[in-house]
Amino acid sequence: MAAQRRVPQLPSSSTNQSVVVWSGVLPARNASKSAFSCKVFLGGVPWDITEKDLMAAFRQFGELRVEWPGIHDKSLKSNRMPKGHLYLIFEEEWSVKCLLGACTYDFHHGQHNWFYKVASKRMLVKSVQVIPWQLADAVYTQPGYDPKHVANMGAGKIFVANLHGMITAEGLAKITNEMFGGVIAATLDTDKTKYPIGSGRVTFGNHESHMMAIRAGMIDIRTAKFSRQIKIDPYLEDSKCSLCNCDLGEFFCRNLMCFRYFCDRCWTWQHGSGEFRDHQWMRRPPRATTSYSSAAEFCPSSGISSGADDLDSLLSSMSL
Ligand SMILES: [Zn+2]
Ligand SMILES: [Zn+2]
Repeated sequence: MAAQRRVPQLPSSSTNQSVVVWSGVLPARNASKSAFSCKVFLGGVPWDITEKDLMAAFRQFGELRVEWPGIHDKSLKSNRMPKGHLYLIFEEEWSVKCLLGACTYDFHHGQHNWFYKVASKRMLVKSVQVIPWQLADAVYTQPGYDPKHVANMGAGKIFVANLHGMITAEGLAKITNEMFGGVIAATLDTDKTKYPIGSGRVTFGNHESHMMAIRAGMIDIRTAKFSRQIKIDPYLEDSKCSLCNCDLGEFFCRNLMCFRYFCDRCWTWQHGSGEFRDHQWMRRPPRATTSYSSAAEFCPSSGISSGADDLDSLLSSMSL
């Protein structure tokens, strides 16, 4: 693609962004028990556990399949070594409720904990942690705003990547609101089982907060349980070129001198000389090619990870 050649290879330090730090306590996960993803995280799994062992333990709750960590990493595919955690994907949500009902449960340090006993060859019986995902945790709207209308409201949105598996939409809203203010909603991107994939969106009610988040570019999150740098980018939507207002604005310039959409021609015109030459473009792929989640597939030229990479980082982040 012609536009690809125009991207200057800048060292990351040239982006001039200083990392802002958030530390605190994240809100507890939803306790409504309304609806669950059919995908369940299993932590503390014996290293020698096999698919057969897992089926023996969980098949009683319904049809399921196992998703091993690193499944999207082709180099790992040949030796499917469990890493102490994996996912069970049931066919029915009802199975998840049955499984949780059969677990031992406690509420500790603001967290719901479910445990279930499994057996493997080496470790005869071991309690593994079962972490379900409640669909309500993927969407959050600040009190006072109507969730039905919030999608079309707001002064600006950001796309957030590299989220930790313990960050819910409410947690994301809390973090970004405390850092930048003005947050009215947050949504996590999910896969087809409605399980979060490690990215999301935050909607701001005012322009200043939105731009403060864009300028920050990152938040260094520190909690008692984990530390994680999450990445902030403009959230790209379908838009016309802001110069000619005629062609599709395929390229977005995130430099604050521009911060707008351009068509191919207008990008070249705008960025042909002076300091504009160093601007980097972002774009979203055409909808037809998005296979995972359209929001997770944004591929800014700065090299944000794709949806699949986010999934793997989520997987590794959840090894408790
Ligand atoms: Zn144009
Ligand atoms: Zn520009």
